[in-house]
Amino acid sequence: MAKQPIKIKDTPIFEQGGFSVIAGPCAIENKDHLVQTAELLSKLNVKMLRGGAYKLRTSPHSFQGIGKEAVILLSDIAKDYGLFSVTEIISLQDIDLIHKYIDIILVGTRNMYNYPLLKELGQVSCPIILKRGMCATVEEWLLAAEYIDNDKIILCERGIRTFETCTRNTLDLSSAVFVEKKSNFHVITDPSHATGNRDLVIPMALASKACGVQGVMVEIHPEPDKALSDAEQMLDFEMFKELINCTNLVGNAFIRSDINLCKHIILRNG
Ligand code: PEP
Ligand code: MN
Repeated sequence: MAKQPIKIKDTPIFEQGGFSVIAGPCAIENKDHLVQTAELLSKLNVKMLRGGAYKLRTSPHSFQGIGKEAVILLSDIAKDYGLFSVTEIISLQDIDLIHKYIDIILVGTRNMYNYPLLKELGQVSCPIILKRGMCATVEEWLLAAEYIDNDKIILCERGIRTFETCTRNTLDLSSAVFVEKKSNFHVITDPSHATGNRDLVIPMALASKACGVQGVMVEIHPEPDKALSDAEQMLDFEMFKELINCTNLVGNAFIRSDINLCKHIILRNG
């Protein structure tokens, strides 16, 4: 069965056989950077601008984001450049604010198991990107998506924890393809958090497109080495242009959907 495209107003943003790109800084730091980033995206015909306003950092001493100010900045700048805004929600109390200003809500890896938050997100009308928990099985990820109960869910494989330490996480492309093939959800990958290394982001974006997922989300910054979070994995603007040029050269495999197996997996333990 073909997947329904996900649209905002009348614009399709994720569709089977398509390859959508979401890009922007890990965390919104200031207006100037965000304007430069939005300008680049609109020149490259990339429609979705991401940026963290509330950051869930492993260390309480790391930069935590600038909160509401960043949400409003992202919304204004995305509108000015005709882009759709994407930001992460980390707490139930921010739902009204984020839903008011933002076009696509992101649930990060650390909140995939936050079932009260997921249930509440069932009430919003905008698309929701649900990242895979860093230690979650595919089954747990799919069940988490069912908690949201919204027909505009996009699943994002962002790397899982394995014994390997040369990369930040391990991009589990085979599971991404499995879920893309066997479920009704659109699936994208996040090669930035999966690898933690800017030199690996383009190859993993290319691999993602080649194996038929519906897009990628990548972190970019005008001066990556000065970024306040995730500097090592952030692409500069030249690398991002290269990513777009390279991915335009790669075809993506059309993979037939077949929802039976997923239902089977869920029912088995359900
Ligand atoms: C993010 O995309 O901003 C993010 C924090 O990623 P993750 O939840 O995958 O760590
Ligand atoms: Mn990040």
